[in-house]
Amino acid sequence: MTKFFTLAMTAVLACACCHAPKEDFKYVDERFADMEILHYEVPGFDELSLQQKELVYYLSEAALWGRDILFDQNCRYNLAIRKTMEAIYQYADCDKTSEDWKQFEIYLKRVWVSNGIHHHYATDKFIPAFSQDFFTAALQSVPQDKLPADKAALLSELTPVIFDANIATKRVNQKEGEDLLLTSANNYYLNVSQKEAEDFYAAMIDAKDPQPISYGLNSRLVKKNGKLVEEVWKVDGMYGAAIEKIVYWLEKAQGVAENETQAKTIAKLIEYYKNGNLRTFDEYNVLWVQDLQSQVDFVNGFIENYGDPIGIKSSWESIVNFKNLKASERTEIISRNAQWFENNAPIDDRFRKKEVKGVSAKVITVAMLGGDCYPTTPIGINLPNADWIRRDYGSKSVTIENITEAYSKASIGDGHNEEFMWSKKEIELCAKYGSLTDNLHTDLHECLGHGSGQLLPGTDPNALKAYSSVMEEARADLFALYFLGDEKLVELGILPNMEAHKAEYYEYMMNGAMTQLKRIELGNDIEESHMRNRALIANWVLKNGGPKVAELCQRDGKSYLRVHDYKALRQCFGKLLAEIQRCKSEGDFNAAQQLVETYAVKIDPALHQEVMTRYQALDLAPYRGFVNPVFKPVYENGKLIDVQIAYDESYVEQHLRYSKDYSAL
Ligand code: ZN
Repeated sequence: MTKFFTLAMTAVLACACCHAPKEDFKYVDERFADMEILHYEVPGFDELSLQQKELVYYLSEAALWGRDILFDQNCRYNLAIRKTMEAIYQYADCDKTSEDWKQFEIYLKRVWVSNGIHHHYATDKFIPAFSQDFFTAALQSVPQDKLPADKAALLSELTPVIFDANIATKRVNQKEGEDLLLTSANNYYLNVSQKEAEDFYAAMIDAKDPQPISYGLNSRLVKKNGKLVEEVWKVDGMYGAAIEKIVYWLEKAQGVAENETQAKTIAKLIEYYKNGNLRTFDEYNVLWVQDLQSQVDFVNGFIENYGDPIGIKSSWESIVNFKNLKASERTEIISRNAQWFENNAPIDDRFRKKEVKGVSAKVITVAMLGGDCYPTTPIGINLPNADWIRRDYGSKSVTIENITEAYSKASIGDGHNEEFMWSKKEIELCAKYGSLTDNLHTDLHECLGHGSGQLLPGTDPNALKAYSSVMEEARADLFALYFLGDEKLVELGILPNMEAHKAEYYEYMMNGAMTQLKRIELGNDIEESHMRNRALIANWVLKNGGPKVAELCQRDGKSYLRVHDYKALRQCFGKLLAEIQRCKSEGDFNAAQQLVETYAVKIDPALHQEVMTRYQALDLAPYRGFVNPVFKPVYENGKLIDVQIAYDESYVEQHLRYSKDYSAL
């Protein structure tokens, strides 16, 4: 897994620690179906040099030209449907006050969110709530020259795909026992069964190659005249018209690269887009992962394979970003002090690492999202994916702070914390320090937590079996929580005072013991390992710390978490960390099983019901997506003299413009 997503609903409140907040910045653009669309700010863009701005602009253009590729990858009808719907939206002659029209608008907005007709997350096809008659009449009223194909042909081909629930039902089918390719609606395979595809690639793989390529990553597999053929995505291959545009802008970017390494990296990517050779792609990745000097950076290509049920084909995506120098200082300070943290961890000396290396992770500011990162986006990325490159050259791990900040800011005043927190005191504490300490928690977890401690000689690293990932996440979280409350962080200048950490302590406990239950269906157990780990920590502390430390109490028939003694709470985190480290270091399976099964799996049904009821009454959107900023190059006498950034484009305007200006397929 190389992307981490935010829990769509965690309402972390923000503080303005990283840059002066623009009080008038409008975060929420609009809301429809299960979506809320936000704007994100790009703080620091104006401080980049002109050359860096130019680079960001060229890379952003390259990011936008891949949009159509993803639509087509997701399902082969998507482009025709999107273009037809957009033509209706702009040119149909019909009653735009009718319920059908309202539902039609929602449908089109959902197609934009999902880059196609299947839900972006659940991958099920969504069925329109407007009538088939409306669709036919609206389409008939559009002038033929505004449509992507012959009107009659569009009607007969698209109507069943859009309206029939039994056609193209799921984009990615994972149901065991079914042919995952023949039952999935994505466009990665055509007339190919799962067995045929698996055999095809099994025969290709060279098991002795220490540097294996990512077989099949950049092509569609098609059966033609009984033979399997790969249609490779490259300049003179499939998607060539779009890739040519991407290459055009990458060449411009190469010309204003920040340094030699980056110029070489971009040149290699261009070479790969031209030859489609996956060895060239790996060479590119090796260069890319070693470029740690450039402030501006990017992801651009066929990267993640979540859209292919057998995990071979990758969807096109792009992110253009630059390093947030100030926030990255935070992670650098932590990494430099890695040994101090290890030496002071509240664990048995035998389990302590004598020499520890901090992983340096940088904090970035996103400037443009494209392809599979738009409009819904990850909050962090860890690339490249090839195991051998990670082993031999490492990986880049980034936290996208302006995106998490947009989530936080948009959540202010949504009523979540007002509903679930005990008093004004906690609400204000979290408003002031929540964002900072939440980010810091992630830094400590990623940079130090996972890398801390050691196994006793002879301990099987897989001894905890099915419990290992829950225990591992709990260990990293506890490491972070324990040190968040340490004066050392104030001394290092990372936290302003000894109050700040209480925001994260309170919110963590409230979430683990209570509010995270909103994401689980009534009657189910907790299954996902991060959720289990949070429940494990919160419930263990409530039970073993006792009511003098923290408790779930009742007021007016509602449950609330209260923390009475933050110092003692920190000691509890330390105590549990020591025990979990012991389990891992000694490989004590029985103790791990006992901990997880006792505290992390079962849910009190009454509490679960209560959380659901209270949460649903808040009426918050389960998913969020984004509108990109708009970059405007300023020329004087044919020379670029500035790149300006604007945030005033709406979600609808943006998609219509992208379809008009960035459609090559
Ligand atoms: Zn982790």
